[in-house]
Amino acid sequence: MHKLFVFLLFILCLSESAFAQQNDTYIKAGLLYDSEQNALLKNKVIHVKGNTIISIGAFNSIPENAEIIDLTEYTVLPGLIDAHTHVLFSQDASEDFSEHSIHSLTMESDAIRTLRGSKRAKSYLDVGITSVKDLGNSGLFLDVALRDAINEGTIDGPRIFASGPIMAATGGQVYGVSPKHQNLIDLEYRIINGVEDAKIAVREHVNQKVDVIKICADNIPNNTHLSIAEMKAIVETAKTYTLSVVAHSITNQSAWNAIQAGVDGIEHGFKLADSTLTLMAKKKVFLVPTENSRTYMNTYGKLAGYDSNDLGWIDNYLDRMTKRLNRAIQKGVTIVAGSDNYTDIRGTRGESSRDMFRVYFEAGMKPLDILQSATYISALNLNKQNEIGVLKSGAKADIIAIKGHITTDFINTIEQIVFVMKDGNVYLSNPK
Ligand SMILES: [Zn+2]
Repeated sequence: MHKLFVFLLFILCLSESAFAQQNDTYIKAGLLYDSEQNALLKNKVIHVKGNTIISIGAFNSIPENAEIIDLTEYTVLPGLIDAHTHVLFSQDASEDFSEHSIHSLTMESDAIRTLRGSKRAKSYLDVGITSVKDLGNSGLFLDVALRDAINEGTIDGPRIFASGPIMAATGGQVYGVSPKHQNLIDLEYRIINGVEDAKIAVREHVNQKVDVIKICADNIPNNTHLSIAEMKAIVETAKTYTLSVVAHSITNQSAWNAIQAGVDGIEHGFKLADSTLTLMAKKKVFLVPTENSRTYMNTYGKLAGYDSNDLGWIDNYLDRMTKRLNRAIQKGVTIVAGSDNYTDIRGTRGESSRDMFRVYFEAGMKPLDILQSATYISALNLNKQNEIGVLKSGAKADIIAIKGHITTDFINTIEQIVFVMKDGNVYLSNPK
């Protein structure tokens, strides 16, 4: 037994070293985005070996006869991160969320749901998003399965940080379900019944190898919500496993409660009052604003069947959200970029995801600040700031390039992806 173990260890070491012997590649960047410093640097070269960045240097540091990827005409960035996705969920604009959820849970097999999700996963790479935080509505841990399939190389997709089922109070977010069918909701949410159950739920999720815990601080339009004590039990148990906890929150009160309970981030936060934003800044609780741009909302309005003369509510919505985002920034709240786009408004899921760049830009955020929210700051709040969202020695080789002028023509430029590398593998190389 012992001898066999030593032999296996030997084989493992052999394959490790075989992996490390991959070619050195030198990527020449005309402009390189330093996400930690939030600055653009001229004429840098990224030395990549295998799936790791070895160093960032000057052009004259490239050895003779080296393998070079020439991106001197472009701006090179760390792979982008979408901190709020639902890769395994998609509904039509005209569909009701609750009815769609029940339909999906009763008439879609896990297999078809996951296969459809795998196609969406690939589409993130096409737009330069190399990591996503996937926050539930994924059946029973289908997000974890998708993550593992990507990590083992079975399918192509971004790095997934998976939450497993959302932890929520009675009914979850699925409204209008009669008492005798409430158990269907257990297929999509982890319903929490008390403080002890909250602790057990976290352990169940740890046992299924989640990367992050997602809770619903409120269940609007269901009136139920987790108590502060239940959320505290979730946060404290999660901490013992070094997992962060993020809270879906629509009402101001639920955000306030979740912050009291010690969550790391607030998702959506559509109705945050100034006093709550001040508390978030003080406690270093980040905000993932998931609103949509006018372009997106107009398309959505059409597909959802709204009368084109009756879209005044879009103006009100955009006005409220712009003000909220600016209030949050003024109060010093950390902004982490996330889309939450799971409605099919045509185009791919990846394309839909990048609407977050447009909405933040239209609300007045500066291009480099948006990039930092979608790279370094996002990674920092995943505690992965040395691995992803940065171009520096020791980080994963998640590297993309865009064509255009990022500071003066942000929207067009962020959509002109010419190169995508994830984990050292090139998925797109189309310099034009
Ligand atoms: Zn969401």
